[in-house]
Amino acid sequence: MAAILHDRLGYRDAALVPAAFAEDLAMDRALELVDGLAAFARAQGRRFGVKLTNTLVVANERGRLPGAQAYLSGAPLHVLAATLLAELDARLPGRLALAGRPGGDVPVSFSAGVERGNAAEVVALGLSPVTVCSDLLKPGGYGRLSGMLRRLADEMRAAGCADLPAWRARAAAVARDAGHASAAAAYAAHLATAPGAAPYAAGAVRKPLKRSGRPLELFDCTSCHLCVTVCPNDAMIRLARPDGLEDRLTRRWQYLCLADLCNDCGNCATFCPDEGAPHRVKPRLHLAGREAAAADSDYRIARAGGVWTADGARADDLVASLLRDLPLPAEETQTEEPQTEEAP
Ligand code: SF4
Ligand code: SF4
Repeated sequence: MAAILHDRLGYRDAALVPAAFAEDLAMDRALELVDGLAAFARAQGRRFGVKLTNTLVVANERGRLPGAQAYLSGAPLHVLAATLLAELDARLPGRLALAGRPGGDVPVSFSAGVERGNAAEVVALGLSPVTVCSDLLKPGGYGRLSGMLRRLADEMRAAGCADLPAWRARAAAVARDAGHASAAAAYAAHLATAPGAAPYAAGAVRKPLKRSGRPLELFDCTSCHLCVTVCPNDAMIRLARPDGLEDRLTRRWQYLCLADLCNDCGNCATFCPDEGAPHRVKPRLHLAGREAAAADSDYRIARAGGVWTADGARADDLVASLLRDLPLPAEETQTEEPQTEEAP
């Protein structure tokens, strides 16, 4: 584990926690469980599957979150999980339902650092379902899924594969021709090479985020739009400045938080180039009847007679003016996608 995480990938500040391993499932016992549970499921006319993998417990030495432990995911977890998959496949010969394993009866789902650069390869291993999480918290958000699917389609087309079974069969054949025991073994071997590991290394993944040096304010900001795309709950919204307010609002696009949708995950604060947390500093809109407003950026909003009202501590008329274009759920939403006003 340390050889991969620290030596190969360079995450030397992600210290492993021996106690967490001591309390967790060991490999030999896991193999017994797979055997026993697969047999039990078969007897019930069902199938037992394996999920790779959970987050990895590491010591919280960076201190950006509370608590003694942190949970590693994303790029380094991808390499660890793919390596574990190859080992499981080797120690459960023919049992896993993977590419090139026609008799395998234990399906394996995979959720570990899947992104545009590896989704096609992961799908080719026969893993199902393949799920994506950490990557969708980066700029572009859920829109990043289209890039993954486009690359998968392009790769399949280039290889002459018309469907996923053909894509998987090709991966198994390529692995076999290269002398590997399986497609999973070939993929793990690739990630063990310097070029294969490079995209997952700390130096490639941990790029400094852009900072403007300006404090984040209730209105007007760098207008980079990042808070909107990185919010997993669609809680940050952008509304156009109404005509006639140019003297009070500098920026064409204003950003607000639908507080009823926000779960305080803090992802928008991670990416905001201005100094402050968008979900706390920007106008926080609460639909009347929901959570009571508390901070001076909170606004209780309501709509009557086709007109929005905003009840809050500061500049109520500005918030209400911005809400003019906010559609009710039953109304048609805007289809025009405005451009980013200014890069940080
Ligand atoms: S803190 Fe709230 S607004 Fe910000 S990304 Fe998380 S859910 Fe979205
Ligand atoms: S991330 Fe920050 S600067 Fe960018 S639009 Fe959102 S609030 Fe403004």
